[in-house]
Amino acid sequence: MSVQQSSGASRTKSDISFAEMTWEALRQYSVPATPRNYELLYSYYGNSNREVSRRVRDRLAEGLPLTAEFLDKTYEDCVASDGRIDALSSGADEIAQASQEMVEQVTAHQRPMTEYGTALAEWQNRLSEGSTVEDLLKAVAALSLETTKASARNRALEQQLSASSLRIAKLRQDLIEVKQEATIDALTGIANRKALETKLRRAIALAKSDPSIPLCLLMLDVDHFKSFNDTHGHRTGDHVLRLVARLLSDNIKGKDTAARYGGEEFAILLAGADQRAGLAVATQICERIGKQRLVKRGTGESVGQITMSIGVAEHRPGENAAALVERADGALYEAKRTGRNRVCLSE
Ligand code: GH3
Ligand code: MG
Ligand code: MG
Repeated sequence: MSVQQSSGASRTKSDISFAEMTWEALRQYSVPATPRNYELLYSYYGNSNREVSRRVRDRLAEGLPLTAEFLDKTYEDCVASDGRIDALSSGADEIAQASQEMVEQVTAHQRPMTEYGTALAEWQNRLSEGSTVEDLLKAVAALSLETTKASARNRALEQQLSASSLRIAKLRQDLIEVKQEATIDALTGIANRKALETKLRRAIALAKSDPSIPLCLLMLDVDHFKSFNDTHGHRTGDHVLRLVARLLSDNIKGKDTAARYGGEEFAILLAGADQRAGLAVATQICERIGKQRLVKRGTGESVGQITMSIGVAEHRPGENAAALVERADGALYEAKRTGRNRVCLSE
């Protein structure tokens, strides 16, 4: 399949759907099927973002491949601040379309099968009206022809259905991967902000139905990280963020969630923990981060230490997710204001 853009956003039944073209292009150019790449190419095929369309078209016209770098840059420039297409819902559309096609394939075969039944009945009628050997021979020839046609149709249907079901299985797998990637922070591999917010809303709903289960939120921010980057470079800074993510994950238990909230800010959701337990976890993390000696990969050169400030808030009855985040953030701000490298509790 060549990677051509659709002329407009309207889908006709004979069109190969935008989603399928998107998957095909991802495969053709061997670029990772990340939600961003998917979203970008989907908007190109759907012609829903003029700037994306222009850039991709120009690139293809120059005979250049769609590389991960090109897609990344185009996404940052044209989509990141734009309205986003929901990759998952377009995938769901695609599955719905594929199953509709299966229904149509089966329905299309119903009419010939009915005709086959009518032919059989007709010959049965004729034969029962007193038949000669000639009639019988004719009947056998006609029935054998009809039966061959019917069974060929059935084989074709079987093949079509099995191709459709393979396609659906593939789409399902792709969607599972997209969904997984959509909840994971690319740099650190831990949960991203979206995943944390989903878990937080669920945990709050659970606390509503059973107020005896406490819930605690920690907001954590690396201290003076800008100057760390300025001194040691952004790449070393990235390594430090990965290390922080690992350390946070190592200091929580099964049902808890550590997430990168954005930039050098992290969040931890402690299920079943009151503020005393939250404070204990936060203090332990704060101490362990401060003690961690950092060395540059490869050279082994020491880059000193980093510290973190942490705000802790226990969920209050009736409080929504945004209000809880705001209180934990307020406590984090207090930790920064009063000297950093410390834990503050929301009052
Ligand atoms: P404070 O103690 O008040 O938090 O100071 P700060 O310097 O950490 O805070 P500020 O908000 O001024 O700067 C945040 C810095 O975090 C700036 C930015 O370069 C760095 N940062 C954000 N995201 C990343 C990232 O993904 N990788 C790296 N290496 N640095 C990042
Ligand atoms: Mg900071
Ligand atoms: Mg910050």
